[in-house]
Amino acid sequence: MLRIEKLNFSYGDLKVLWDVDLEVKEGEIVTVVGANGAGKSTTLKNISRLVKPDSGALTFDGQDLSRLPSHRVVELGVVQVPEGRRIFPEMTVMENLRMGSYVKGTRKDRERNVEWVFDLFPRLQERQKQLGGTMSGGEQQMLAIARGLMANPKLLLLDEPSLGLSPLLVKNIFDIITGINRQGVTILLVEQNVYQSLRIAHRAYVMETGRVVLTGGGQELLDNEHVKKAFLGM
Ligand code: ATP
Repeated sequence: MLRIEKLNFSYGDLKVLWDVDLEVKEGEIVTVVGANGAGKSTTLKNISRLVKPDSGALTFDGQDLSRLPSHRVVELGVVQVPEGRRIFPEMTVMENLRMGSYVKGTRKDRERNVEWVFDLFPRLQERQKQLGGTMSGGEQQMLAIARGLMANPKLLLLDEPSLGLSPLLVKNIFDIITGINRQGVTILLVEQNVYQSLRIAHRAYVMETGRVVLTGGGQELLDNEHVKKAFLGM
């Protein structure tokens, strides 16, 4: 579905990605884990075309992403949920959700998608008239994911969905991601919560200082000695 080959990227003179190879197959949850500054978010930004690679190949369902503007990438079904809570604080929950379905071809599915995300996140239904900015951190994170789902993603790119959440909500958000995947959405998940993300991932990539240093099945990497030492404090 998504294939990245030899991706190189620099912010000005600062090179941050080195020959990154990564693949996501239809139906998978794939996670990219690594320490702060490893280049995880930058990899996502290259996929969703928020930045332009120095070199390398990026294809989605056989189409060359590197030639498309970011709105065309979204129309293909590659939808990024940004890190943090970049929702619209002055809009209600419902208005935020509607903003997610301005992508070409998704408007006709708006009502069905609203029902879908309310089913996934009952709290959003209860709070549909509340202003986004007054929702709690966890609720805003849910709203950001729900807004992404309104755009009919085939591949959902999630950047640190567990950041800043309480332990109970962290577990909850990973369960929800698994649920979304079971409903047919392929997922590429960038996370610092290495344990939880490997636990739900079919496959995973470990990044260190801009390079992929390890790849394998989620469970396989949970059992890997380097991963245990470097990320799981074991
Ligand atoms: P984190 O988990 O902390 O978000 P990350 O693995 O997602 O880290 P990136 O955000 O991709 O890492 O950052 C990779 C490197 O690029 C870091 O050294 C960071 O300081 C640098 N960087 C990120 N954004 C910019 C920018 N807009 N301009 C310059 N350098 C940047």
